[in-house]
Amino acid sequence: MSLLNHYAEQLDQLKQQGNFRQFTSNQQHGRFITIQDRTMLNLASNDYLGLAADLKLREEFLDTLKIERILFSSSSSRLLTGNFAEYEQFENSLSKTFGRAALLFNSGYHMNIGILPALADSKTIILADKLVHASMIDGIRLSTAQYVRYRHNDLQHLEQLLQKYHHDEQIERVIVVTESIFSMDGDETDLAALVQLKQRFHKTMLYVDEAHGIGVRGKQGLGCAEQYAVLDQIDFLVGALGKAMASVGGYIICDSIIRDYLINKMRPLIFSTALPPISMAWSDFIFNKMLSMQQQRQHLAEMSQYLQHAVIEKGFYSPSSSHIIPIIVGESQAAIEKAKYVQQQGFYAMPVRPPTVPQNSSRLRISLTSLVQKKELEQLVECL
Ligand SMILES: *Cc1c(COP(=O)(O)O)cnc(C)c1O
Repeated sequence: MSLLNHYAEQLDQLKQQGNFRQFTSNQQHGRFITIQDRTMLNLASNDYLGLAADLKLREEFLDTLKIERILFSSSSSRLLTGNFAEYEQFENSLSKTFGRAALLFNSGYHMNIGILPALADSKTIILADKLVHASMIDGIRLSTAQYVRYRHNDLQHLEQLLQKYHHDEQIERVIVVTESIFSMDGDETDLAALVQLKQRFHKTMLYVDEAHGIGVRGKQGLGCAEQYAVLDQIDFLVGALGKAMASVGGYIICDSIIRDYLINKMRPLIFSTALPPISMAWSDFIFNKMLSMQQQRQHLAEMSQYLQHAVIEKGFYSPSSSHIIPIIVGESQAAIEKAKYVQQQGFYAMPVRPPTVPQNSSRLRISLTSLVQKKELEQLVECL
């Protein structure tokens, strides 16, 4: 027992701080979620286009499949025997659409913990936005690069750092790491300005995570990089497929040299069984559908603008300019109370606490999907 005591005490501490986490079981149907017999509008989903909830799409996909092609395991890394046609087909779709090479990964987390250590050596400095996702932090920690974080979304601070490190002869390359839309604040990087900045510093390469931009932004849904017309200016354009894309995995859009390099150097790609071919076939199916879903993107943008303004008008602080809309309250306990209250009113939003967000910035995090209706949001705003 004494060895377990140590962990039990830590858990008690988390409970006292209101930061203890546990799984909740749920059932989902369309835009609703049921937890312990309470059915609520799901405002905590990453299914931004409602595609994971779409039974018709699922049916259509299943109708295209022959049993020989329904493979639930690739049984191997892609470098051994796991490289099924479904992988190449989806990479070709990505590559054709984005206009550069594409490479797939088992998850967004794998992608971020794998690419950065592969690319960055001790002659590299990584400059990362203060609020980048934990997976990028872990990737940076696994690398041998030096690293400095710049103040969130502060391109002036980044410019100062670029100036400083550009003159350092020990440093051969600078990799700037950021997200396009930030997962917890729902605000976004000015990608056009970032690209302009990069162009002034020739040692600099850009790494941008579009986990929350893919599917949602740009005419074809290729993300903020499409929206701001900088698709070919971002050296490492990465994203996750488990959110708007209703699937699983991660991708990079990059030069073919980088693709070959990652295939040779990236450990999570080399040493992990590739995703099931059926998942890749589904990703390809969804991706090609997603390209023409302007209507859903438009609706989501309108709902997001409505809620951003309404939250501010209610007197809350929210930095959001996207479909991810946090209502920042400060204390963990306050965020938990607020979440409990809106859940009682029929809206499922979740509290987000440290260490996911900085101390004293606990919040109710609302993420909208294109399935949400205006009148539902009006009711939500009333009970805020
Ligand atoms: C969700 C997320 C990831 C992780 O992607 P998974 O496919 O869920 O592992 C990576 N980066 C960002 C910014 C994310 O929001």
